[in-house]
Amino acid sequence: MSVNYDKFKLKEVINASGKMTILGVSKVSKAVLEAQQFGGEHFFEMSDLSEKIGEYLAKLLSVDDVQIVSSASAGITQSVAAVIGKGSLMHVYHPYSDRIKQKEIILPKGHNVDYGTSVELMVQQGGGQVIEAGYANMCTPEHIEMCVTENTAAILYIKSHHTVQKSMLTVEEAVFVAKKHGVPLIVDAAAEENLFKYTKLGADLVIYSGAKAIEGPSAGMVIGKKPYIPWARLQAKGLGRSMKIGKENILGFTQAVEDYLKNGSEPGESMKKRLVPFIDELNKIDHLEAKMVQDPAGREIYRASVKIMDQPAIEVITALKEKNPAIYTRDYQANHGIIEFDIRAVNDEEMKKIIVRLKEIMA
Ligand SMILES: *Cc1c(COP(=O)(O)O)cnc(C)c1O
Repeated sequence: MSVNYDKFKLKEVINASGKMTILGVSKVSKAVLEAQQFGGEHFFEMSDLSEKIGEYLAKLLSVDDVQIVSSASAGITQSVAAVIGKGSLMHVYHPYSDRIKQKEIILPKGHNVDYGTSVELMVQQGGGQVIEAGYANMCTPEHIEMCVTENTAAILYIKSHHTVQKSMLTVEEAVFVAKKHGVPLIVDAAAEENLFKYTKLGADLVIYSGAKAIEGPSAGMVIGKKPYIPWARLQAKGLGRSMKIGKENILGFTQAVEDYLKNGSEPGESMKKRLVPFIDELNKIDHLEAKMVQDPAGREIYRASVKIMDQPAIEVITALKEKNPAIYTRDYQANHGIIEFDIRAVNDEEMKKIIVRLKEIMA
């Protein structure tokens, strides 16, 4: 292979931390790589590719239409531009014109979060103006309603663990308010696992990230109703151009969606099976104790939880990252002396490397 870690003096990274943007999020499957290769080796009429793939995915996802974009962030920006421009070509070329008045995007204040960049910046990039509804710790349907004016372009709901979870209106309630006032509802479900739930509840545009739950290549998608999705597609002629996605990733991501719908994520049972020998090996190392734990939020995710004796866990965590390969772990419980290994993106060979390195560190 002409590409490897050495060529560019890069550190190999073993990602036992979960889905992390700073490490590149996901590994993709062989089937996805093959689809990417087909994309890389052939030409397409790009507008044809965008529409036909949209139709194909729309059938799989039981929606009117789907637009593949370069990321969920690009999905937010282009959805906002879509609901403001409503298919106007004049708007596509001049999305930031002062003449546009109906550009307010109502967002629960507790949803105005930073997930690596801010939701507000992505809205502004799409020509929208965020109107925060409610308070940092509370937003009711009434709080949203009192913000609706003739300048409202949409309501935006962020479904994510990043947001304030308590005393926030539900997606169902947001749908109800949006319908009552005849404004579209955009749901950012970037990292969510259920690709049907929010459109079924009645959201008009729902946004997913390509490399999170779906484990595809760098991409995103906006799924939902006509005419909104075609309006989002139109943005490729305007502000969408600077966030263009290539043909390789359109095809690779489509394959990833198909595989995800067929197989879902790795089942809990499979994770448990892969963890047993790993935990056995861990327990042979001095000064630590390993056991299997389930995700505290109750998801079907199992991890190795390792209690470090006789030294602060943070020293071990730092040492794990220092050498090549750099090993990244889940560190939320480090101050209790516990390091967690999330093996969703770790294969058998990498587990062996983790054991070798831990033995060195603990010796
Ligand atoms: C990760 C995330 C995004 C951004 O996804 P990208 O595909 O990386 O742009 C947007 N919103 C939420 C809630 C996220 O968790």
